[in-house]
Amino acid sequence: MKLGALEAGGTKMVCAVGDEKGNIFNQISIPTKTPKETMPQVMAYFKKEKVEAVGVGCFGPVDLNQNSDTYGFITCTPKLAWKNFDMAGTLERALGCPIGFDTDVNSSVLGEVTFGQARGKRCVVYVTIGTGIGAGILIEGSLLHGMLHPEAGHVLVKKRNDDPYEGICPYHKDCFEGLASGPAIKSRWGKEAAALADEKRVWELESYYIAQALTGYILTLSPEMIILGGGVMNQAQLFPMIRQKTLELLNGYIRTEEIEHMENYIVQASLNGNQGIMGCLELARRKL
Ligand code: ADP
Ligand code: ZN
Repeated sequence: MKLGALEAGGTKMVCAVGDEKGNIFNQISIPTKTPKETMPQVMAYFKKEKVEAVGVGCFGPVDLNQNSDTYGFITCTPKLAWKNFDMAGTLERALGCPIGFDTDVNSSVLGEVTFGQARGKRCVVYVTIGTGIGAGILIEGSLLHGMLHPEAGHVLVKKRNDDPYEGICPYHKDCFEGLASGPAIKSRWGKEAAALADEKRVWELESYYIAQALTGYILTLSPEMIILGGGVMNQAQLFPMIRQKTLELLNGYIRTEEIEHMENYIVQASLNGNQGIMGCLELARRKL
């Protein structure tokens, strides 16, 4: 099978050609400007490659309701040029092939479950902590959409008493994303997150907020594995802190094999940054 994969992000569009086994044969990256500038390049790439189907993991919010008039659209994004843009329909009309469509984070969890460390698991949460925070959720083997799709990066967390920072989320100020995204770290401490690597107190606080959110996901969704990706999670020092604080917050209430072995339960993304694009290949395969 010759499958197309499109990881549509706010800064770049990663386009790839691969197969149903997760092999990637060719990959390009196109800067995300306006649909008028960017989409013709994306479509030309897939046309030239003569793919049988394309899977799209898209920044959002997006409309995933197949019965909706705006299925496959990017809806109320703050990237205004892309607001109400018909992503799936535009590709389908230009390429004349089936288009699988889901959120960027759902494609990442799908990549990990199909080709990565979560293979065979049926309930998995993938959290990306980068410019924003988002979560893809696989539940009983299906990607969770529900009424819209999860927006678990915006869950509310308790602020630590000694944290005066007001939060950066345009909607909620001090939600999880508002307190713990890369831009929140930069705005709180006055330096890029990567430049704060040696500041223990930065990562102590960061891990406190991440652990709160994960505790909520564990209690609500009962995942078998939680995978953390995104730029901020390059700080590998966060992992032991997050595991420890999550255990403290759970406080012995949940007793399972998984929780006993935290180092295999809260883990780093496993596919060298390709979990999203490989998930898109699987979205394409499923659509075919
Ligand atoms: P995006 O979320 O835009 O798709 P990323 O997942 O790469 O992209 O996230 C970018 C964010 O991650 C930025 O806010 C940046 O400051 C932060 N970041 C990137 N590298 C690191 C690092 N090594 N340590 C901590 N934060 C980082
Ligand atoms: Zn928010």
